[in-house]
Amino acid sequence: MTSSEVEYVRSLIGLRPERAFEECGTLLSIQPHPDDTEIAAGGTVAKLVKRGCRVIYVTVTDGGAGTTSPSIKWEELSSMRKKEQQAAAQTLGVTELVWLDYRDSELRPTLELRNKLITLIRQYRPDLILTVDPWLLYEAHPDHIATGLAASEAYFFSNLPNVNREDIDRGLKPHLTKHIAYYWTKNPNIYIDITDVIDLKMKAIEAHKSQFGPEDINLYRKISQKIGEKRGFGYGEAFKVLNHYALHVNFYADLL
Ligand SMILES: [Zn+2]
Repeated sequence: MTSSEVEYVRSLIGLRPERAFEECGTLLSIQPHPDDTEIAAGGTVAKLVKRGCRVIYVTVTDGGAGTTSPSIKWEELSSMRKKEQQAAAQTLGVTELVWLDYRDSELRPTLELRNKLITLIRQYRPDLILTVDPWLLYEAHPDHIATGLAASEAYFFSNLPNVNREDIDRGLKPHLTKHIAYYWTKNPNIYIDITDVIDLKMKAIEAHKSQFGPEDINLYRKISQKIGEKRGFGYGEAFKVLNHYALHVNFYADLL
């Protein structure tokens, strides 16, 4: 499609990727593991918090598989990673953290997970949901695929009262979130300039001490730089922003 055709289809379905972050009052970040949000979107989160946006992290798995050392036990690592995630989030100004504690490396996009996420969406009523792109070609990590799929389904159904009806019966209201933004995505439609907060982002990543050494930290800085180059920024982060109309029977969605 030409860029004017893309603009036409976007206008038909009311998709405004640039507005998703600009107009965000509440962001729900649904991440597979402690650390994903910082690596993929830490700069964007820092900017949103500075702008007064409320940010809530939902971490789906407990992170207990994330080590190559045979001497660290599952529970020990899991509790260590929770503390690291709290410190990392705090660095970015985020203090609201929700833990779903599914077992790391074994996640599936179950109805139970979807419904838990629907409940959280109805509780927090975000303007934007941030999550991992589950349709990334060659993605092998089941937790990433399952989190992205379950978050997408929850986004899609949370405004329908008869889906996960128990929420409505106990007083929650259906909620239509304006946009969903995917990171680690092949065809981003928005680039955020994070040059002014790159040091904060790197500090947040460094807080995940059990996960990253100096080489990893350097790699993530370089990746942010590489993404930024696409738009002439010093450092950047890239997202694919979609809305309800793009996520069902829309054969243009990958081009939008
Ligand atoms: Zn992850």
